[in-house]
Amino acid sequence: MKKEMIYEGKAKKVWSTEDPDQLIVSYKDDATAFNGLKKGTIRGKGVINNQMSNILMKRLEEAGIPTHLIRELSERETLVKRVEIVPLEVIVRNIAAGSFAKRYGVQEGGVFDEPTVEFSYKNDALGDPLLCPSHALALKLATKEELAEIEAMALKINEILKAFWADCGVRLVDFKLEFGRLKDGTIVLADEISPDTCRLWDSATGKKLDKDRFRRDLGGVEDAYIEVMDRLRKHEEE
Ligand code: C5P
Repeated sequence: MKKEMIYEGKAKKVWSTEDPDQLIVSYKDDATAFNGLKKGTIRGKGVINNQMSNILMKRLEEAGIPTHLIRELSERETLVKRVEIVPLEVIVRNIAAGSFAKRYGVQEGGVFDEPTVEFSYKNDALGDPLLCPSHALALKLATKEELAEIEAMALKINEILKAFWADCGVRLVDFKLEFGRLKDGTIVLADEISPDTCRLWDSATGKKLDKDRFRRDLGGVEDAYIEVMDRLRKHEEE
């Protein structure tokens, strides 16, 4: 079914198929942080990220959010709709952490009254700089209507995922989304939703169950990915 590899990123490979409107995404165990400065392997990560992302995207579809997901093909591979990626990283935050805590000099853990949405320009050479919506328009990365739609979708996704993770005993601290355009221009959720792209903290203990364990050399990286996936599976079985 796979024809040729058309893209290899830090954590995924993308293959074309016989159908020009469909691609196969293949998840790797490779991990990078700090725009590729830190490199490593998280054993089993590709399988977990593929399966977790598909479970979450299925739930989002059921809640009325269009995604690129077609179907899971194997442990590491998923068939998706071909999209033109909007070159924005859309970050939603519920709790101060990571670059927010650093930029504004606040402690990690403060809960916001309202979630925040921010955009980064998806551009490795520039280090994905923070971008205000009017600059996204000036750079013609998206139209005004698309930006409004993306922001509204991101906030709706946050509400759905926050409630879902709460049922698994996990706090959804923040996460990054990417959106794409189908051939007809429809905006759909693309990329992945996984411990690579979300901060997930144990509700009871605050234990980090995400890629920060790798970024910050906290140890127990593989076990944290396994633990958070187990919580999700158990919730799915209930
Ligand atoms: O580093 P920062 O605090 O801005 O990250 C916010 C959220 O976005 C985190 O959950 C992080 O995992 C995710 N993120 C990502 N890819 C990036 C930057 C951030 O998945 N390139």
